Amino acid sequence: MSHSLVTMSYIVATILFILSLSGLSNQESARKGNYYGMLGMAIAILATVLSDAVNGQTVIATIGGVSLSPYAILILALLIGGSIGAKAATKVEMTQMPELVAIMHSLVGMAAVLVGYANFMDDNSHLVGVEKTIHEVEIYLGILIGAVTFSGSVIAFGKLSEKISGKPLLLPARHWLNLALLISAIVLGGMFLQESENPNQALIPLAIMTVVALLFGIHMVMAIGGADMPVVVSMLNSYSGWAAAATGFMLNNDLLIVTGALVGSSGAILSYIMCRAMNRHFLSVIAGGFGTSGGTAAEVVGDVQPINAEGAATLLSEAKSIMIIPGYGMAVAQAQHTVNEITKLLRGKGKTVRFGIHPVAGRMPGHMNVLLAEAKVPYDIVFEMEEINEDFPKVDVSIVIGANDIVNPSALDDPNSPIAGMPVLECWHSKTTIVMKRSMASGYAGVGNPLFVLENTRMLFGDADKTLQEVLKHLKE
Ligand code: NDP
Repeated sequence: MSHSLVTMSYIVATILFILSLSGLSNQESARKGNYYGMLGMAIAILATVLSDAVNGQTVIATIGGVSLSPYAILILALLIGGSIGAKAATKVEMTQMPELVAIMHSLVGMAAVLVGYANFMDDNSHLVGVEKTIHEVEIYLGILIGAVTFSGSVIAFGKLSEKISGKPLLLPARHWLNLALLISAIVLGGMFLQESENPNQALIPLAIMTVVALLFGIHMVMAIGGADMPVVVSMLNSYSGWAAAATGFMLNNDLLIVTGALVGSSGAILSYIMCRAMNRHFLSVIAGGFGTSGGTAAEVVGDVQPINAEGAATLLSEAKSIMIIPGYGMAVAQAQHTVNEITKLLRGKGKTVRFGIHPVAGRMPGHMNVLLAEAKVPYDIVFEMEEINEDFPKVDVSIVIGANDIVNPSALDDPNSPIAGMPVLECWHSKTTIVMKRSMASGYAGVGNPLFVLENTRMLFGDADKTLQEVLKHLKE
């Protein structure tokens, strides 16, 4: 394929990626956005595979005495990578999606590190002067960003899958440690550039910097408390984009640069939105536990008032205005379809039913919106937190389905709480709040919730889907 045709295909792919991002920003157009993305990626892969960079090569590798053509290597890589990806995607439960995304980010980081080292070991004798220095800076930055993304994402995977505790690791001199790691990365960068004439010598600062970057990634994410994880997830998403862009610079691939920059900047915007939603400063979060009080939240004391499905159905039947607040537990129970059935029934009886969505509900940005869209809940009754938070005093019954941290009043009135300052859905201002969950266990941030013992709260214990089906049965009676 000629160079100009490849460039044209890359431009088309870029446009499709931009359309994809704009489609994904709205739930009604998200499906279309995904199709644009898939088409763009197919065009990008096809154009790259058919480009002279691959096609023009003769034999490039010999494995066990067998010479492999570029296409044989590509097909082998596609088969291995594709089958691992396909297996992971078909096996993964909807609730494990955030972990899968985190581990995928780690692979982007690892790829950037490996491409960086491969580039460094390649014959770069044709590069001289400024061009050579720029190439070396690209390699250094690519490996640095890649290594931080890799180790940070592996820890994020551990935290999201609850293999690692969600509690922040707050080392006494953590900010000094971060500063020391940053300064050593800069000093090592200078040493790397100075030794550039001697690759064997330059490899030493490069390898030390890789270890430093890996440590920084681990420390950065370990220091982040459970409730701040959404910011980390979107930030690592952004890092993986910048790692891909750095790889694009190393490989001289325009499409990779543009795609990486799109992912990097959209991830950065998402991180900013998440920070604003959680009332946190971006720099405080990434520096690890800056805004975290480190104190202990006050213990929750008081008696809970349980209710059964029939009692909940009665409350709903008597209510005029109902607010549904879904959380992670709705995703675990896969209760969204039953929620939709109940919504249709209640609206059919002339009641006002609305949904209140917290920006960090669930375990990934937009988690609840995806589930409600899947169950075909009408978009016009789904509201963001800031749109409906002031309406709670006019609501008769709020029904909290498997949510916990996002409806925790201690975020507003306990300055020692790890989630202090985070805006929450103030459902306790409605006449009655029904909270559905299986036990008195805390949510992701590991904080007790005083909402459960308030006078106007009724606890409806059990798996959200099974209990809602019972509520539906009673509502129909
Ligand atoms: P939480 O994790 O705070 O609470 C979920 C609740 O659901 C639990 O207390 C659990 O209680 C209940 N639950 C679990 N399974 C079921 C079930 N089958 N049926 C009924 N209830 C169930 O979730 P929220 O959505 O309220 O808050 C999200 C939290 O996750 C925040 O702290 C946020 O910062 C964090 N987070 C969010 C991310 C994002 O991007 N959105 C990413 C990473 C973290 P029980 O065990 O008693 O049933």
